[in-house]
Amino acid sequence: MTIEGIREHFRCTTCGEEHAYPLFDALPAKTATGLTCPSCHGEIDIRLDFSFGLHGRVVDVFIPDEIASWEQDGEQWQFYPFLVIIEPLDKDDPGLQTWLPFWHRAKSPDGQVRTYFGRYALCLQVDPFNGLLEQARKKGYFQD
Ligand SMILES: [Zn+2]
Repeated sequence: MTIEGIREHFRCTTCGEEHAYPLFDALPAKTATGLTCPSCHGEIDIRLDFSFGLHGRVVDVFIPDEIASWEQDGEQWQFYPFLVIIEPLDKDDPGLQTWLPFWHRAKSPDGQVRTYFGRYALCLQVDPFNGLLEQARKKGYFQD
């Protein structure tokens, strides 16, 4: 599945072969178990080219421990927000970036699952993102 505004590249770091995966599956797999090349069992790198000019490599992915779930119109819905850490590949890059894409999944009574990508996901450098969290922490949010 291709996402509008983003070009995805899944390239083996050993043999250089390109592969294709749904980003929804590949992102969590990358950090949980690693993505392995079907040809040589080398590691697969995920690179993303965003239409607004960011070209980067996925270095880490976080998803919530518990996925929100609810029933609507006879279908079971789930919400998957991801926090993706991206290392820009451009020479004069501004440092690590955060990307917060999200997906909805709907499971119909007959078991069919549809996956929807939420457009307009936030993409922000790590420092301003951390600055927002720090402001919120000072007011008592995001405390352990
Ligand atoms: Zn390979």
